[in-house]
Amino acid sequence: MIRTIPVGLGDRAYDVLVGPGLIDRAGEHIVPLLKNRRTVIVTDSNVGEHHGERLAAALERAGVAVDVITVPAGEASKSFEGLADLSDRLLALELDRGDLIVAFGGGVVGDLAGFAAAIYKRGIDFIQIPTSLLAQVDSSVGGKTAIDTPRGKNLIGAFHQPRLVLADLDILATLPAREMACGYAEVIKYGMLGDPAFFAWLEGNGEAVLAGDVEALAHAVARSVEMKAEIVTEDEREQGRRALLNLGHTFGHALEAETGFGEALKHGEAVGAGCAMAFRFSARLGLCPDIDAARVEGALKAAGLPTRLDALPQGASFHADRLIAHMGQDKKAEGGKLTFVLARRIGEALTAKGVDPAPLRDFLISEGALS
Ligand code: NAD
Repeated sequence: MIRTIPVGLGDRAYDVLVGPGLIDRAGEHIVPLLKNRRTVIVTDSNVGEHHGERLAAALERAGVAVDVITVPAGEASKSFEGLADLSDRLLALELDRGDLIVAFGGGVVGDLAGFAAAIYKRGIDFIQIPTSLLAQVDSSVGGKTAIDTPRGKNLIGAFHQPRLVLADLDILATLPAREMACGYAEVIKYGMLGDPAFFAWLEGNGEAVLAGDVEALAHAVARSVEMKAEIVTEDEREQGRRALLNLGHTFGHALEAETGFGEALKHGEAVGAGCAMAFRFSARLGLCPDIDAARVEGALKAAGLPTRLDALPQGASFHADRLIAHMGQDKKAEGGKLTFVLARRIGEALTAKGVDPAPLRDFLISEGALS
């Protein structure tokens, strides 16, 4: 069964379709969006190898001309160099504004191809066919596109909404287990920040989701997309409620910065550990019951995600002051004060501005960071 989740953004509204078999039927969904029957698929080397030909064949069957641009898999493609290379290849294909870019991959391809679409000839339409769990539940929905610079991640970008998102659940069969767990951290985050019943459902069904059970995946992806769509519709440009999606990200960002933003600790793993820390910090501040922090930790652990500093690659060598310094550089820091997304309970997150570094430092030391 295909579920359709509308993202209600007025003249930029679009649908997210979630279900099995969507790649093979991509043509029928895409043709109505085309002015010219021409698309360029942008994919990465892993996704292209596994699924590229199948998507190209599905579009060609629907009478659509297809070119494919493959970029190297990995975050390094989301750079100025990667953007220049992709833009040049799009220009060489003489793509024009009546044509359509298909971003076919994980969050890296979605962010890179989406940003290229935002600026190519002052803006061209694109659609997202997300192939990682993280991309299906998070990055393909909401229109944020960006590249990284040596000064930080996602610092150069644009809001550019896709015309359609096709989240094919079958494609997750080839996703490595570690990437699946990373996406799951974002799924469970939705429960933590705004839906206690969904969180409880994941406590019982998380194993089936991670094992790729299509029914369980369908509910997990659709509910996550619904929540993201609702938040984005209310606050497209992150003036308020959209910031709650950053639950776990201030702690997580600091952990990623200390471990080098790479394979040692992946973003989803950092978000998982960051969520566990955000709940424990909330409990320590008296905002949230201890039992909720314990449930969050239990649910993340059950998915094989790290929840404590001593489970992270650098073990006990995290320094409280260094972590706090990274948190100060986070995009969410305003005027030197620290901003965190904290929680009152499972299902109720809040933005806490002007957090005092002293109790934060005590908390980090209680978590095993060095003073
Ligand atoms: P990714 O795109 O690097 O994909 C992870 C790995 O899985 C890659 O090696 C990729 O080749 C591989 N892969 C993807 N789908 C596959 C499949 N079906 N089969 C086999 N291999 C597959 O990383 P990601 O975790 O999808 O996304 C992370 C990126 O998303 C980061 O750059 C992050 O900044 C960005 N992001 C953006 C937003 C947003 O709102 N725009 C939100 C969250 C994250």
